[in-house]
Amino acid sequence: MKIVMLGAPGAGKGTQAKQIAAKYGVPHISTGDIFRANLKAGTELGLKAKTYMDQGQLVPDSLTLELIMDRFGNDDCRNGYVLDGFPRTIPQAEALTRALEEKNDKLDYAINVDVPDSNIIDRMSGRRACLKCGGTFHVKYNPTKKEGICDLCGGELVIRDDDKPEIVNKRLVAYHEQTQPLIDYYEKEGILKNVDGTQDVNKVFEDICDILENK
Ligand code: AMP
Repeated sequence: MKIVMLGAPGAGKGTQAKQIAAKYGVPHISTGDIFRANLKAGTELGLKAKTYMDQGQLVPDSLTLELIMDRFGNDDCRNGYVLDGFPRTIPQAEALTRALEEKNDKLDYAINVDVPDSNIIDRMSGRRACLKCGGTFHVKYNPTKKEGICDLCGGELVIRDDDKPEIVNKRLVAYHEQTQPLIDYYEKEGILKNVDGTQDVNKVFEDICDILENK
């Protein structure tokens, strides 16, 4: 099962991607998480990505593609994956299509978690992330059992620098300019599925499972 998650930053696609991965036994691959892990570890890739991430801009395609193609080579990708935050631009989507075609393969679904911009700002301000395991929560929509503590690993939750309001606005601009065209791209490929992302987090997941199980 090969799935691409689409949606604005803060639409909840990461949360859904993690649940899909757990239920269907495929790895959750988040380019944002990989960049952040590199940043934390102080790698060259992390340092290069940081300048863009801090500004709410996309990391250049060349850097991102190198990273993701390397990740696809891991053994756990044999039976598929759920991609979260990749592809983010048309050239990235085209590179992914080509890489799959070379192996006589293709994506199964592009799931668009649809949330209007007006809801996004509200959501981002309440988002909390665990720097230790990458888990994301929301003070209102997806709260942890203990405030400020990650349910998954017990790590401390923080507001990510790129979730701060001025950066959120820039990320939304980048999303509309560079990532939204992917909705048309995958519609034309015939694999686009829209899900109403304003619903309760569990209902969104139910709708996604119905799609994946052809209900
Ligand atoms: P995310 O956690 O997916 O919102 O990603 C956080 C940041 O990482 C983005 O704002 C970008 O700067 C960078 N990033 C993540 N994925 C990509 C991608 N596919 N292409 C370019 N930049 C990315």
